[in-house]
Amino acid sequence: MKRIAIIGGGLAGCSLIHWLLKDNSVLDITLFDSQDPYTASFGPTLLCHPFPGRSLAPHPYLGDAVECTRELLKDWTQIAPQTIRETHMWRPLKGSNAQRLSKSHLDWWTEEGKHAHENTWLENRPTITTCTESDIETHPCFKTDYPTLRTGPAFAIDAGDLFPLVHQHFRNNNVSTHYTSIQSIEKCHDQWCVHSDNGETTCFDQVVLAFGRQTKRWFPHLDITLQGGSLLKARPSSPETIEALSLDGLHVGQHADKDWVFGSTRWSEQPPTPETETTELLQRLTKTLPHSPTMNADISTLWSGIRTIYGSDRLTLCGELPQHRNIFVLTALGSKGFLWGPWTARLLQKRLTQQTVGAEFETVDLMRANAEDGWYSPYIQNSIG
Ligand SMILES: Cc1cc2nc3c(=O)[nH]c(=O)nc-3n(C[C@H](O)[C@H](O)[C@H](O)COP(=O)(O)OP(=O)(O)OC[C@H]3O[C@@H](n4cnc5c(N)ncnc54)[C@H](O)[C@@H]3O)c2cc1C
Repeated sequence: MKRIAIIGGGLAGCSLIHWLLKDNSVLDITLFDSQDPYTASFGPTLLCHPFPGRSLAPHPYLGDAVECTRELLKDWTQIAPQTIRETHMWRPLKGSNAQRLSKSHLDWWTEEGKHAHENTWLENRPTITTCTESDIETHPCFKTDYPTLRTGPAFAIDAGDLFPLVHQHFRNNNVSTHYTSIQSIEKCHDQWCVHSDNGETTCFDQVVLAFGRQTKRWFPHLDITLQGGSLLKARPSSPETIEALSLDGLHVGQHADKDWVFGSTRWSEQPPTPETETTELLQRLTKTLPHSPTMNADISTLWSGIRTIYGSDRLTLCGELPQHRNIFVLTALGSKGFLWGPWTARLLQKRLTQQTVGAEFETVDLMRANAEDGWYSPYIQNSIG
């Protein structure tokens, strides 16, 4: 049986393992995870919705990506039922965003729209409606001065609670799991030997690097941006159920325990102090949503993570390294990991199990980033053998 190592147990690595197990792939799977405190995937509540940007124009594979995420979340709901909820995303139409979103809605999603015939998202289309008085009466704390679009499907995912259960599920399904950091990889005959920081070496037929921000260190020539950010989980004075909202760069969701989770901040070097970020986020919430309940700052926790973004088109990077057969990469999930990550992982799973992958692979193909020897790594050596 082929032995495969997945390095990184965040959303990328876990999505891949999920598809491999679901497909009954005949592989012996080992997961290595270094438990990085800035793991991007483990935010208290992350949101997934199809139009996170400033347009409602669908990428040609957006519908496929959303279907993939929906399937993965449905499966993970079986493993961790309390951690995933379907919801709607509220998008108040403010300033130039109002024109942009209204126009792309007209162009792409109405029958007479000028791009409607190019819209490839034909099945299980998203719902895009304008919020009514009754919607606002149901969620008065989301009242703003602007007309508001409400889109679905959207999901609130208590990722920090979900992933430990996903790891446990993998262990129950014979995925050998090691909480250790992989320092380097070396070729030995026709296998790849991975060296971990506890001094152990294990050899595999295939290795997948799904290690988020470490992509930048391992591939120093790559056009990768690391962007930190924080989310505040805080207890509202009134524990009512809310949906999700995005306005002025502030994203608001709700944890299963009814705490609000909102953010996020953006930083590139050292994180600001938790006090500074907590104050900033509380102020932004009050300014953005004047009808939001008061938050109890004493029962709040600030979570920070680091996103890995491919600078050029901000889409995922995936595939086999050009210089090294049987080493694969699954990274750069960016700031919309739940939107594009599961679909990219599915494409890689098909590649790994020799199934046909169509032209869609070009969207994520790591060769997009091969300029300037982008995929050279000082930590991967062809040396012995
Ligand atoms: C503040 C913030 C808010 C966000 N909000 C959202 C949101 O609402 N919706 C959304 O879809 N996305 C959101 N994202 C983005 C999303 O979290 C990421 O795109 C996604 O989680 C990245 O997953 P990953 O598995 O590639 O990386 P990570 O989650 O960072 O996982 C990498 C894993 O690799 C392990 N690792 C690293 N190096 C090694 C090594 N050498 N050996 C072994 N293990 C190693 C680490 O321990 C870690 O567990 C947000 C990100 C941030 C920072």
